[in-house]
Amino acid sequence: MPHLLFVFLDGVGLGPADPDRNPLARFDLPALARLGGGHAWTDRLPVRAEPSHVVRPLDATLGVEGLPQSGTGQATLFTGINCARVAGRHFGPFPHSRTRPLLDAQSLFHHLRAAAPEEPHPAAFANAYPPRFFTYARQRNRWTVTTRCCRAAGVRLRGIEDLQRGEALAADLTGHGWAPLDLPVHPIDEAEAARRLHRLGRSHTVTLFEYFLTDKAGHSQSFERAEAVLRSLERFFTHLIACLDPAEDLLLITSDHGNLEDLSTRSHTRHPVPLIALGHGAAAFAEAADLTDVAPAIVRLAGRNPDATAADPS
Ligand SMILES: [Zn+2]
Repeated sequence: MPHLLFVFLDGVGLGPADPDRNPLARFDLPALARLGGGHAWTDRLPVRAEPSHVVRPLDATLGVEGLPQSGTGQATLFTGINCARVAGRHFGPFPHSRTRPLLDAQSLFHHLRAAAPEEPHPAAFANAYPPRFFTYARQRNRWTVTTRCCRAAGVRLRGIEDLQRGEALAADLTGHGWAPLDLPVHPIDEAEAARRLHRLGRSHTVTLFEYFLTDKAGHSQSFERAEAVLRSLERFFTHLIACLDPAEDLLLITSDHGNLEDLSTRSHTRHPVPLIALGHGAAAFAEAADLTDVAPAIVRLAGRNPDATAADPS
């Protein structure tokens, strides 16, 4: 089993390659192109299915009318169950009440735990949350999809101490976003964020990092904000790719719905989202077609022992 680094990008779809609407088509983004097999992340992104590099579009509409939302999209990604169908509609950004029992008992973190019940937990959630996040979430018992899944499955939520020790990432990668909170946190650059995530990944089977500024930039309809976010991701992925050992590491990138790729609208889109797997075991995602296919592929990958992989011609 490789060490899987799962970078979840909120609100990134594969849209038309129109530089007047799509920042992913307007700006030169070599690290993203490298991840895309030499192509920009647009609806022209060619499908790739190599043993160590898979690139595919995933359907994010899930056969449900309306615009995909984060609450049901993320719940689907992390459970493998079509949560838009369960909820009867696209819903978000917080979890729909009907999906909460699924997040509590059927997330990929649960399945990973069940397959490896000994300590430490095989999964990690790399994001650090400031103290006020925990205060508000506890007061209202209102958790995001990922924090709810993690709490229920015994994956520790990280906070300021983890960030200070270099054992967590700020949601914006660098920690500059923590400055207004007036907390003793020193910003880092994206290169250090990449090394941190890679280091964390080496002590877990699956390490998730969640990045939502892509969705925020999409809602802002600002090319300036979109460019800043994409340049930051460029620096991060440039260094993360450099850290990857092709014999040990697997980088997985995907999203919950489109948004950033069409700045002509303030809302989400029905475009497919990219799935990119780069590294050891990437072929596990070669058949993924929609958001329900991601979690089962991760769990299958984690359940395989190395001997079984060597004997299995697939
Ligand atoms: Zn959004």
